[in-house]
Amino acid sequence: FGDFLANRMKKSLEKKVAKSNLTEENIKDTLREIRLALLEADVNIDVVKQLVANIEKKAVGTGISDGVRADQQFIKIVHEELTEILGKTKKELNLGSRPSIIMMVGLQGAGKTTTCGKLSHLINKKNKKKVLMVGLDIYRPGAIDQLVELGQKNNIDVFEKGKQDPVITAKEAVDYAEANDYDVVILDTAGRLQINNELMDELNNIRKNVSPQEIILTVDGMTGQDIINVTTEFNNLLKLTGVIVTKLDGDTRGGATLSISFMTKLPIKFIGEGEGISALSEFYPKRMADRILGMGDIDTLFEKATEGVDQRTMEKTMRRMFTGQFDLEDLRNQMKQMAKMGNVGGLVKMIPGLAGKISDNKIDDAQRRLDVAEILMNSMTLKERREPRLLKAITRKKRILKGSGRTEKEFNELLNQFDKGKKQVAEMTKQLKMGRMPNFGGGGGM
Ligand code: GDP
Ligand code: MG
Repeated sequence: FGDFLANRMKKSLEKKVAKSNLTEENIKDTLREIRLALLEADVNIDVVKQLVANIEKKAVGTGISDGVRADQQFIKIVHEELTEILGKTKKELNLGSRPSIIMMVGLQGAGKTTTCGKLSHLINKKNKKKVLMVGLDIYRPGAIDQLVELGQKNNIDVFEKGKQDPVITAKEAVDYAEANDYDVVILDTAGRLQINNELMDELNNIRKNVSPQEIILTVDGMTGQDIINVTTEFNNLLKLTGVIVTKLDGDTRGGATLSISFMTKLPIKFIGEGEGISALSEFYPKRMADRILGMGDIDTLFEKATEGVDQRTMEKTMRRMFTGQFDLEDLRNQMKQMAKMGNVGGLVKMIPGLAGKISDNKIDDAQRRLDVAEILMNSMTLKERREPRLLKAITRKKRILKGSGRTEKEFNELLNQFDKGKKQVAEMTKQLKMGRMPNFGGGGGM
């Protein structure tokens, strides 16, 4: 019976999963989930449509790796596609020349001034460089004071000439920086509520006058559908070198970054995640793809599921399980395989739909019980693990408790759990014998 069952299982697995391709039919539901996830993450609707069409085209016909579910494989493709669009790898600031000049541009309220402060702070701390901030917003009341205050509070020097023509002030600031050994100059330019010619002319003149290495657009990540127009117009007129997306605090999913990357191909260099001086993060495309999909670290899980686990041991364990031979040694092997995939907290984080839904307490508790079980089982002999009934002998129990340093309660708990598990497997096997195969292949709604 054992062999027969194992063969049947293998056949069904091969037919259902290993040998099949992704088809329009079998990705339909997951595709819908992806579309919803993107919309929920505030990705521009046109971008969602194009992106989903691209993904579908790319996925259909792609084969599925051994032992992986179709929806997992599909999500991996989606994740890779998003990572690619988001720029693949982290993009550094160009701080080559001395002084390097960074020109910050953007609409009013986007977060330019705040980001000037954050960026100066980061460059100062991380790159150990001396930074000069320059106040060029002569229109918005209090804008220069805001920058001066930010500088005072955080020990960053500020250059400003009140209401003097910003094109002239910019040049003076660069001369001043050269004469005073600054490594980096950050220009805080004026914004408008909407793009207009006057603003663009002024920004262009500043650009021509000081030739910045970086012209970075700051955009408000909550802007929504208009964000692409804003970015495209600034880019057409100024040839941007990068974008910083602000206000992606807390649980904001960050779809704006995807809209911008998809439509403009500009590198996103940082994201703002709060009002404080340290609330600026480097932009990692892979992490952002996880965040937008709201699915934890899919890629890592996929890799661990396929590479970390010893297929042969798993198969053997499964076969023993379904032929009623499962013992503590099998349990221990299984736990070792699981441990290869990471700790409980790490695993939970990687599983779609589970991340954030299981309390830290529960995770700690599960981890603790696994650890205790492992310690106890390590103190048993192989013979005891193979024949758990031997553990009823009080002398053996005493020896194991002493060797492991665990309590009798913990020991009994482990054996009870094991018995319960065995009964469940027996019940499942009975069902199998009656011809009701559990669904090992696809399924498992996302
Ligand atoms: P500017 O007109 O482009 O210079 O914009 P400001 O720097 O004055 O910022 C406008 C508002 O947005 C201020 O209240 C900032 O505190 C806020 N702000 C900027 N960046 C962020 C961010 O990443 N998160 C949050 N929550 N607020 C931000
Ligand atoms: Mg400002």
